Amino acid sequence: EPHPHKILYYALWSLQKIIFGYNLFAYFPWQATMAGQLHQQLLLSRHYSRVFSVINSHIHTSSGLASKDHYKVLVLGGGSGGITMAARMKRKVGAENVAIVEPSEMHYYQPIWTLVGAGSKNVASSGRPTASVIPSGVTWVKSKVAELNPENNTVHTDSGKKISYDYLIVALGLELHYEKIKGLPEGFEHPKIGSNYSVETVEKTWNALKNFKEGNALFTFPNTPVKCAGAPQKIMYLSDAFLRKTGKRSKANIIYNTSLPVLFGVKKYADALWEIVKKRDLNVNLRHNLIEVRADKQEAVFENLDKPGETEVYKYDMIHVTPPMGPPAVLKGSSLDDEAGWLDVNKSTLQHKTYANVFGIGDCTNLPTSKTAAAVAAQSAVLDRTVSRILKKQTPDKTYDGYTSCPLVTSYNTVILAEFDYDGQPLETFPVDQSKESRVMYHMKADIMPHLYWHGLLKGLWGGPGPYRTIMHLGMK
Ligand SMILES: Cc1cc2nc3c(=O)[nH]c(=O)nc-3n(C[C@H](O)[C@H](O)[C@H](O)COP(=O)(O)OP(=O)(O)OC[C@H]3O[C@@H](n4cnc5c(N)ncnc54)[C@H](O)[C@@H]3O)c2cc1C
Repeated sequence: EPHPHKILYYALWSLQKIIFGYNLFAYFPWQATMAGQLHQQLLLSRHYSRVFSVINSHIHTSSGLASKDHYKVLVLGGGSGGITMAARMKRKVGAENVAIVEPSEMHYYQPIWTLVGAGSKNVASSGRPTASVIPSGVTWVKSKVAELNPENNTVHTDSGKKISYDYLIVALGLELHYEKIKGLPEGFEHPKIGSNYSVETVEKTWNALKNFKEGNALFTFPNTPVKCAGAPQKIMYLSDAFLRKTGKRSKANIIYNTSLPVLFGVKKYADALWEIVKKRDLNVNLRHNLIEVRADKQEAVFENLDKPGETEVYKYDMIHVTPPMGPPAVLKGSSLDDEAGWLDVNKSTLQHKTYANVFGIGDCTNLPTSKTAAAVAAQSAVLDRTVSRILKKQTPDKTYDGYTSCPLVTSYNTVILAEFDYDGQPLETFPVDQSKESRVMYHMKADIMPHLYWHGLLKGLWGGPGPYRTIMHLGMK
């Protein structure tokens, strides 16, 4: 185990890396070596502690077979929203009264896939066993929810189990629909194509970028709601930076074809992004929707949404696909969804509009804000309060303002940190103009946010930056 003075040294080394954006200590090779060794040692000890946490979690988490038929609080989905709410509910009603229905063995920190696709993080760093993130003592029902029956407070799983509840928290995320693009998903078997939106295809993005030779580099944005609306263009900026670094930029024609009529939904950040796009010679085509990929011929077909029936074929040497997305199939057509299939919740309290004992969080809801993990954090604090009040037979009193955030990565060391509310009004945490590219914000995204996610959000301890925003702005915001 590393000695405490070495940990202090390592902390200082990390701090200067965050502040200055590079390794000052690299000028003194013996120090760089020492920091490197410590990094390895810490990673190793973290690895051991993770192994222990999985074992511990398995011991304290009931398996699907041992699970009961009724829970006070039942959480559907063990992603960002489900785990954070289970951790919070455990503190309210006791671990033995909470269960999570989640089929996946692995839990992923998806926001880091942007950097995995650009080759600056390892895909392995994005995942941990689900067993290690289920709050200890909470029951993990390792199945898929197959049917929702809010009329009699029950759900059915795909293994045929019926579970009843007093309170239901729906955190099912959204579904990716690669199959809605002709030629996909089978097109991913060819090189030159990738997508940061799935753990199966994210490394293909990096392969395509690394092996780019010359021609068009295409980036797409579909004609549906998406999670992290900035991610489809973040990978374009990173690709541009990579191609500049490797001397290939002059051979590349970088094209961003988006279905949207704007580059980004909030004007303040869109203005800043348009400046970057112009400065770096990136070509943006609005209202262009990807409908087909002919991966064997390296061609992509787009429809012009303003001129129905008109299509355009683009040759590519690399393409990054952002797939169409939609609500979870199990929600669609259930009595919990709205006309579009999303969970129909009150936008202030996150309580279901018809069923008072049903609540929603995250990507599966129809909350009219950008779907992000940052939004999940802010929603979790409100939902915690809403459920507490309902448990005490009181009316909900805390209001979600739509807070969401998108760290728009614009290169390998800069980020524009977009933060805004339901009305698209900037809701910035720091007392600086966040529409400016910043190195500190990049290190927040790449180095600090993952820790905040695993150790804060998933433990039910991080409810978004609201209180810090107030302090940073001396109580004025
Ligand atoms: C490339 C990329 C970049 C991103 N960048 C950012 C970023 O920079 N900042 C940010 O804040 N957010 C970002 N996000 C978005 C963020 O990851 C999501 O918004 C967040 O994870 C939503 O949490 P959730 O709980 O709603 O859904 P998820 O975390 O996706 O969890 C849903 C869970 O439900 C489970 N599930 C699905 N169907 C069923 C079923 N029938 N039964 C039981 N369980 C089921 C799934 O297995 C999954 O575990 C990014 C996402 C991607 C893909």
